[in-house]
Amino acid sequence: MRKTILRGVERKGSTYYLNRPFPLIGHLYFGLIDRGLNIIQARITSLCNLSCRFCSVDAGQSSRRIAEFMVWDPEWFSEWVDLIVSYKEDGVDVLFDAAGDPVTNPLLPEFIRLTKRNRKVRWVILETRLHGATRQLIDELAEAGLDRINVSIDTLDAQKAAYLSGNPSYNIENVVKLVEYAFHQHGIDVHVAPVWIPGVNDHDLEEIVEWAIRNGFGRRIPPLGIQKYVVHPHGRKIQNIDEPSWEEWERFLRRLEDKYGVKLVLSMSDYGLRKSKQFKPPLRRGDETWVIIVGEGPYQHEFLGVTKDYKWALTLLSKKEVIEEGDIILARIIRDKDGILIAVPT
Ligand code: SF4
Repeated sequence: MRKTILRGVERKGSTYYLNRPFPLIGHLYFGLIDRGLNIIQARITSLCNLSCRFCSVDAGQSSRRIAEFMVWDPEWFSEWVDLIVSYKEDGVDVLFDAAGDPVTNPLLPEFIRLTKRNRKVRWVILETRLHGATRQLIDELAEAGLDRINVSIDTLDAQKAAYLSGNPSYNIENVVKLVEYAFHQHGIDVHVAPVWIPGVNDHDLEEIVEWAIRNGFGRRIPPLGIQKYVVHPHGRKIQNIDEPSWEEWERFLRRLEDKYGVKLVLSMSDYGLRKSKQFKPPLRRGDETWVIIVGEGPYQHEFLGVTKDYKWALTLLSKKEVIEEGDIILARIIRDKDGILIAVPT
């Protein structure tokens, strides 16, 4: 059963469920992020059914997080989408990505349907590994108006895929079938986004390139966007594997480009991206504001907070103070990049 914590916030276990009127801008793990481009990031969950060994956001079962977040109110969410989109000069893409996997939110089709209502939204894109998805979900996503799936697949080998995903039930054959079904049956475009882990999936990537070309993926943008394996501060690292340098990564991609005649070294314009007016909370680094503490997380010494006027979400950092749910604290903003607010007690 979910317990009500504050207005618009309920909690079940370590997961916070966010509803109207809790603000959906200001946090990295949920809500909307506008980085000043003609695309906005939509984060409706931080949960993940996999637990990839190289996960850059430390999601899933082996995560060290102490709190997770789930946006539970599609109508409220779409009002925030409309607000940001109204700031943009022209058409905007909305990318459902996550510090987890968006398919873990069962309301995903409804979020997409309501987002598509906005006439200025050009493409709605879903970034996912599709673990746990079904044909029925693909049908619902198509009906909701999903334009593209950016699917992360690092190998077509069943055993290796299960190993890398950290979940023995991850079934790559099923995922491949779902991707082909979405593309051929529903016309949802597909962009395949594997991570190159040197010495682990070099040959596998060649098979993935061949698969993408064979199917004709990438109607509106290039079919593949191979990612560089990067170790992030909170992320997980595969033992005994070093991160490649940017030069090594580009050399690897150029070799595949020559072999397969497909564009792999991509720029913003390949994704149809350009700069666009940015929507940001008015709070700036150095400003002081009263903050209501909702609870802990996502990591130890971090707290979910909301400004006292209930307009912006934020993360409060504190190693020293004893801070409890419901406390109201005067805090100073120490970071405001892209509208993601980090504060410390004054
Ligand atoms: S890499 Fe993606 S799918 Fe894998 S655990 Fe992280 S968030 Fe989940």
